[in-house]
Amino acid sequence: THFGFQTVAEDKKADMVKGVFNSVAKRYDIMNDVMSMGIHRLWKDSLINTVNPRPGMHLLDLAGGTGDIAFRFLETSRGGTVTVCDINAEMLAVGKERAEKAGYAGRAEFVCGDAMKLPFASRSVDAYTISFGIRNVTRIHEALEEAYRVLKPGGTFYCLEFSPEVVPVLQEAYDTYSFNVIPTMGEFITKDRDSYQYFVESIRRFPTPQKFEGMIREAGFARVKYRTMSAGIVAIHQGTRI
Ligand code: SAM
Repeated sequence: THFGFQTVAEDKKADMVKGVFNSVAKRYDIMNDVMSMGIHRLWKDSLINTVNPRPGMHLLDLAGGTGDIAFRFLETSRGGTVTVCDINAEMLAVGKERAEKAGYAGRAEFVCGDAMKLPFASRSVDAYTISFGIRNVTRIHEALEEAYRVLKPGGTFYCLEFSPEVVPVLQEAYDTYSFNVIPTMGEFITKDRDSYQYFVESIRRFPTPQKFEGMIREAGFARVKYRTMSAGIVAIHQGTRI
């Protein structure tokens, strides 16, 4: 209106919405630290070391959430650019705001999209990362086929994900931690036990590293390999489009 009420109200609403997104994202980041005892940071650093960014590289970070992988990539790559893609617009909004604050806005773009049907041209990216995201995708083979399609020949797919098995001596302790400690901590901190129960179960349902390696090959990738970290709790897989 010409009194400006509309604008004031809209500004206020935008601020409130931002506040809600920030608290969701903050809680998400805190829970990552609590549940992994901070180790997820090292796993993510390892992923970027494996990618080994070349100057000017263009990375597509799928299920990029609030930008954890993208920011690590931008810190280490000279002149690299990144497209963060996630199905959840709220997570992306937080990532975008953080990119602006960190002065990365010119090198990062945020696009809402589904890993199974990417809104990107074929043969358009140098590397593709997906960190703790593929487990949530309904049809994994479709996400792998899409990753293959958008990569340039010579480009590599990298995936950081939990693995359903750990080294046998730790299995019992890991089971207790997963099925008792994590849901209880989740409930205590977020009042939402079910989400953490789902989280733990989704890890156990995910294919073993060997099986997932085979799926990457089936999608057409070559030079497929993986390595596990932290006694098998997580694995980094990779495969190249040739
Ligand atoms: N990559 C970030 C990290 O490592 O911290 C975020 C991981 S978070 C556990 C999983 C993300 O996957 C969420 O942001 C969720 O919105 C996204 N996601 C789930 N299904 C997806 C899909 N089909 N396509 C794209 N993103 C998806």
